[in-house]
Amino acid sequence: MSKLSLDRILQSQGFGTRKYCRNLIEDGEVSINGEIVDDYRATFDTTGLHFTIFDEEWEYREHVYIVLNKPANFECSRKPSHHPGVLTLLPEQFTWRELQPVGRLDHDTTGMLLMSDDGPFIHAQSSPKRHIPKVYVATTHEPVTDALIAQLLDGVQLHDEPAPLAAQTCRKVDDYQIEIVLEQGKYHQVKRMLAAAGNHCSALRRIAIGELMLDALDLAEGEWTYLDEAQLALLR
Ligand code: URA
Repeated sequence: MSKLSLDRILQSQGFGTRKYCRNLIEDGEVSINGEIVDDYRATFDTTGLHFTIFDEEWEYREHVYIVLNKPANFECSRKPSHHPGVLTLLPEQFTWRELQPVGRLDHDTTGMLLMSDDGPFIHAQSSPKRHIPKVYVATTHEPVTDALIAQLLDGVQLHDEPAPLAAQTCRKVDDYQIEIVLEQGKYHQVKRMLAAAGNHCSALRRIAIGELMLDALDLAEGEWTYLDEAQLALLR
């Protein structure tokens, strides 16, 4: 059991500085079990704690693990330069909690973006040693040929890589689309592999990480959801 004062609880959940959280509490904006709590020193067990702020209900979470169905024209960087950042699509508390993407997608890539504020989780999930498969659907500029698929499966040499990079699996979806599964997450990897194989990627969507499929989460573009334990276990 972990008991914390209400101001610390709100601060840990990304509702602002300790001073701001104390003001919220003293202004009567925070309720627990339907009762306004206006003493910021009051302590609560955080396990399964639900609280309401400005009439919106929240659950205490030690860490946040979410999937965003990323639209095009958003940057994964915390300091975006040319397009809005993905954090602008999420509640403001997630910026305060310093949520980070687990492996970036390019600004024009759409689909499954995993985000968390759990450093060891992000590190483990991003580690090249884990070989976590990422599944992409790439739209190609030139028609998909058997030779293209064979090249991507055999491996293509990218100019700054010591050895050729190969797709784990790759199949034709239709004349202008492939589904490609990569174990690595190198910079612009799908686009550069397609270019190295003599084609060009005109659109890219990530549809799965490990065994977790974006479609199963039923998210429209720009929507996000928390992941539960069972879904997190599929990210391998
Ligand atoms: N490969 C790319 O080229 N871009 C991405 O965003 C992800 C993988």
